[in-house]
Amino acid sequence: MSDTKTLTGDPFIRGLFESLLKRRLFYTEAFEIYRTSGSLHSDSRGLFDYGPPGCALQSNIFEVWRRHFVLEEDMLEVDCTILTPEEVFKTSGHVDKFEDWMCKDSKSGDFLRANHLIENVLEARLKGDKTARGVAVDDTEKGDAKVDAKKEKRKIKDIKAIDNYDGTELGELIERLDIRNLDGNNKVSPPVPFNLIFKTTLGPNSASPAYLRPETAQGQFLNFKKLLDYNQNTMPFASASIGKSFRNEISPRSGLLRVREFLMAEIEHFVDPEGGKKHQRFNEVNNIQLNLLDRATQLSGKTDLRNMTLEQAVEKKIVDNETLGYFLGRIYLFLLYIGVDKSKLRFRQHMANEMAHYAADCWDAELLTSYGWIECVGCADRSAYDLTVHSKKTGGSLIVREPRLEPLKIEEWQVDINKAKFGPTFRKDEKSVEAALQALGQTQREELSEVLKENGHITIQVPGTLPDDKIDVSKELVSFEKRTIVQNTRDYTPNVIEPSGIGRILYSLLEHVYWHRPDDVARGVLSLPLFVAPTKVLIVPLSNHQTFILVIRRVSQRLRQFGISCRVDDSGASIGKRYARNDELGIPLGITIDFDTIKDDSITLRERQHETIDNQEVWDDIFKRLPEFISQEGDD
Ligand code: AMP
Repeated sequence: MSDTKTLTGDPFIRGLFESLLKRRLFYTEAFEIYRTSGSLHSDSRGLFDYGPPGCALQSNIFEVWRRHFVLEEDMLEVDCTILTPEEVFKTSGHVDKFEDWMCKDSKSGDFLRANHLIENVLEARLKGDKTARGVAVDDTEKGDAKVDAKKEKRKIKDIKAIDNYDGTELGELIERLDIRNLDGNNKVSPPVPFNLIFKTTLGPNSASPAYLRPETAQGQFLNFKKLLDYNQNTMPFASASIGKSFRNEISPRSGLLRVREFLMAEIEHFVDPEGGKKHQRFNEVNNIQLNLLDRATQLSGKTDLRNMTLEQAVEKKIVDNETLGYFLGRIYLFLLYIGVDKSKLRFRQHMANEMAHYAADCWDAELLTSYGWIECVGCADRSAYDLTVHSKKTGGSLIVREPRLEPLKIEEWQVDINKAKFGPTFRKDEKSVEAALQALGQTQREELSEVLKENGHITIQVPGTLPDDKIDVSKELVSFEKRTIVQNTRDYTPNVIEPSGIGRILYSLLEHVYWHRPDDVARGVLSLPLFVAPTKVLIVPLSNHQTFILVIRRVSQRLRQFGISCRVDDSGASIGKRYARNDELGIPLGITIDFDTIKDDSITLRERQHETIDNQEVWDDIFKRLPEFISQEGDD
């Protein structure tokens, strides 16, 4: 557990914090009564239900996200299906590559994610935990082992490489450092790959395998052409989607941070790869200063942050291009707006070996929590990879065709096929032979035209033809001609910049806004900003008299008519207690209904913190308009 501090500088105690969230029903473990009855296998972990404040907070964060990104940037929102046929994820690479390395406890049979296991054991050894077996438990070697663990841990942490170690590297580390399961000290099996996507079938036919999507992105890519049409063929543009994604995490143990079913909000910004990926609105964010942990710093074994403006970061090529920089700026503004603590936010660049092979650059917005720095929003330049592979696989066009300002003249070797003779010669192989000829590159076409002249025929590779995938084509059937062609249009596959994340933000935000009063450690306060707070107003009546009940009904109805959520606390506790109790729900505003209200309809307004209201009006302005409340009752 990382030693984080609360807003007021006190040590963050996760047990107290989590008990608040569960007690006030922000969330709860799914199927809890089955779990406590002992009838559920431990594999059913990593699934959570949200209660009323959790749902309201989540939906408010989404609302801000939609306003901040979809509405303000005129993005094209889509809602694509979760169930996806196997072919799509085969093409995208998920079926073959979306996997983590997994070990099995030799006795208990528990499955453990290999990189997390090593991290956790090294962490425990560094803290001097004798039960974290292996070399560290042997007293004679303990000193050395600690140094070893320290060295290994530093190396791994500093270069952040462990997440990208392959099975052999992880296995070697487990063997050399005698890594064992912390729970029971048993040896573990060598790591094997485990695919994280959930498999199912569509319809009764088991021959139609399908998967629950692990990201919302693929649906957006497949609809690219339709969205481009909808956008009147204008580039650049972005699509956006909010929805559930599923990953069969091997061992989900960090509460809401690593779950098997989570909400994702993803943007796919399609941009022309030529012209340096400039962004028209970059000037709106270029002065924002970010804390960056760049690749070079990590490579040098350090974790120092470099604070610089986005303009400097793009200029120095620390951030690859303006479009990527623009989205880092927008993500930063979004996170601060919903209440993330600026001092617990950094942007970390992926190491070269951490990125997908096609990615040009990738940055994660990381939030500091009691679990350490957590990737909450990934922002990747996915280049043209996804559109290209889907287009290749299906033959469907996922390109942009734009008129050229100046027509382009190019010389090109073209393939001329004698259709009248081609069909009767190759019969059922006609299409494959033609496709193989058309697939030849320019240099090959030029070389083969010489061969054709000299030999009167060429031999080409045509997969699937007998006897050995090779076919002879004579000069009566084909010729290669060099021609000058004029192109009035330009075809290109756009590159994609993708900011994605959201589920983890909710939990990390709650950690950031949590604190407690010095005299009341057990009862926490959540200083959520007004716009994301689940309930906006607490109504506190001074009496339970019938006249008060009617006023309460009137006030709460009026608030609800304006779309303002409210909650009534008419218990007998003192006003101060009632406010303190409801601070746990993060309610920022309070209305006290007192005896004056009954007489003249005046109310007392309380704000949890003397900040601005709706970022517009500050209390000083309000004092000018309204009189201050003078206590009527022993109102503590
Ligand atoms: P990735 O595609 O792995 O880069 O993940 C994209 C985003 O999805 C991350 O930044 C997280 O916010 C979120 N995410 C990924 N895996 C999980 C998980 N198991 N539980 C919750 N959120 C996740």
